[in-house]
Amino acid sequence: MTSLPLMESFYTLQGEGFHKGKPAYFVRLGGCDVGCHWCDVKESWDKDLHPTVSESAIVEEVVNVGAKHVVITGGEPLMYNLDSLTAELRKRDVSVHLETSGVYPLSGTWDWICFSPKKFKKPREEFYQISDELKIVIFNRSDVKWSLEHGEKMNKKAHLFVQPEWSKEAEVLPGLLQFVKNNQHWRVSLQTHKYMNIP
Ligand code: SF4
Repeated sequence: MTSLPLMESFYTLQGEGFHKGKPAYFVRLGGCDVGCHWCDVKESWDKDLHPTVSESAIVEEVVNVGAKHVVITGGEPLMYNLDSLTAELRKRDVSVHLETSGVYPLSGTWDWICFSPKKFKKPREEFYQISDELKIVIFNRSDVKWSLEHGEKMNKKAHLFVQPEWSKEAEVLPGLLQFVKNNQHWRVSLQTHKYMNIP
């Protein structure tokens, strides 16, 4: 096993998307070069700002808190090879979920992949086929049309979500409600952890 730049880790609830409301241990890796101007974790971008932590220490902490569900997020977690981390977690009966923009090749073995493409860096085509969930963050009203282009490319089993960017929620939500009425296989995802005031 190797080491990874760890920005933070915490046991909370998954606040958004398909697994909303589920207890989850979050592992947020440092490093991202996608450059979303509205990113709410810009402090994650520079991997050198974060301590390097051994994968075994990460696994040990998950076991210690008793979490059965881990979300590996970032930053962009696929900047690193995640084969051994995911294998070690799964060996301990922990389900491992990935949140990715899809701009790097897949590594690791996953129980769930949430693919969230961004306008600022083109994702790799394979993520449309291998992902379980598509989550498009809506910052401008024009992003709604952009989400349809991605939804059309997704595999038929995937769950499709539009999610207002937190600071724009009041502005874009009415349009999203109309969007899902017109496109009934889509769902609205809200960042419910922010309403609960939890990380
Ligand atoms: Fe931030 Fe995620 Fe965009 Fe990276 S991909 S800049 S972490 S929102």
